[in-house]
Amino acid sequence: MSIEIRNVTKHYGSFEALSNINLTIPKGELVALLGPSGSGKTTLLRMIAGLESIDTGEILFDGQDLSELHVNQRNVGFVFQHYALFKHMTVFENIAFGLKVRKRSLRPPKKMIEKKVNELLELVKLSGFANRYPSQLSGGQRQRVALARALAVEPKMLLLDEPFGALDAKVRKELRRWLRKLHNEIQVTSVFVTHDQEEALDVADSIVIMNKGKIEQLGSPSEVYDKPASPFVYDFLGSVNLFHGRLNQGKLQFGSTQLDAPDYLHATDIQAVGYVRPYHLKIERQNYSDEAIPATIIFMHSIGPTWYIEMKREDSDNYVEVELSREEYELLQLQLGELVYVSPKEMKVFIPEDFVI
Ligand code: ADP
Ligand code: MG
Repeated sequence: MSIEIRNVTKHYGSFEALSNINLTIPKGELVALLGPSGSGKTTLLRMIAGLESIDTGEILFDGQDLSELHVNQRNVGFVFQHYALFKHMTVFENIAFGLKVRKRSLRPPKKMIEKKVNELLELVKLSGFANRYPSQLSGGQRQRVALARALAVEPKMLLLDEPFGALDAKVRKELRRWLRKLHNEIQVTSVFVTHDQEEALDVADSIVIMNKGKIEQLGSPSEVYDKPASPFVYDFLGSVNLFHGRLNQGKLQFGSTQLDAPDYLHATDIQAVGYVRPYHLKIERQNYSDEAIPATIIFMHSIGPTWYIEMKREDSDNYVEVELSREEYELLQLQLGELVYVSPKEMKVFIPEDFVI
């Protein structure tokens, strides 16, 4: 089922929680809604589910307006962060629940339910756990049962609100890989809410980046990561160095440095900021050109194969962070306290009018 969100706005009292949201989710896609806490992700998800009213705008499912339909008739599967399973029911009974409570005319025969539950147990890799109670499962296993329960009624869409939020990092990583695989098998249109950048980048076909009730950017994981559309997205999706300066005929100038800004050949004296990822900076010992920023090394540390070099700029009170591979680091033989020259291999310039942070 495709989902089309058109000009949707939502207020709580005078507070605008969602502001003119437009978004199309193609059938069978796994889309992540990614943004900081309070950006409106849950509100949007609950509107898609029919659990929250819409102030203005509409949401269409396969081109149809379902706003008259009750939540139960919409055929939606839910998994929430704390979607408590029924404690007094076994895993089997939990998964079968949605089918057993159907009206007699729609209820599958007992044997069919049994077959379905067993298939689902296999799908979520919990065969052999049918007779356990939720208290006898790990957090990760419980969320897999919650997912099987959501899938039992063969939903046309699956809505997941921070489903792995309460689990520890390693389990989260395993489960999201597993969800990705599962989605490839069942291909149900899915909307996955998370505030975890890595989780969204890892799991989704496309990512919707939200901030203060608005969509900042929509794109594939590599699009949003490599080509952030706004300062907010740059900042939210990873570390970034900011170089404040003035744009003049294709150059961003500050101190004695002039960085190439080819998108702004005709600018004359405009205040702007260059955004550079730490791994897009190179370090040199000599100042070969005016394209480098002088800085002194104040701290170096490594995590796995990556070295992080922190520097204090000589031309201002700001700091710069550079990421080097182990090979680059070993070649350079950097020393603490050393004066070096840093220059960007890639930079994106934003002018303050564009700023949304
Ligand atoms: P997210 O899921 O991205 O953390 P939410 O959609 O839950 O954000 O909330 C968006 C904003 O709307 C927040 O500022 C939140 O406080 C507010 N909000 C959410 N639900 C309600 C409500 N029922 N009443 C009033 N304000 C709400
Ligand atoms: Mg939320």
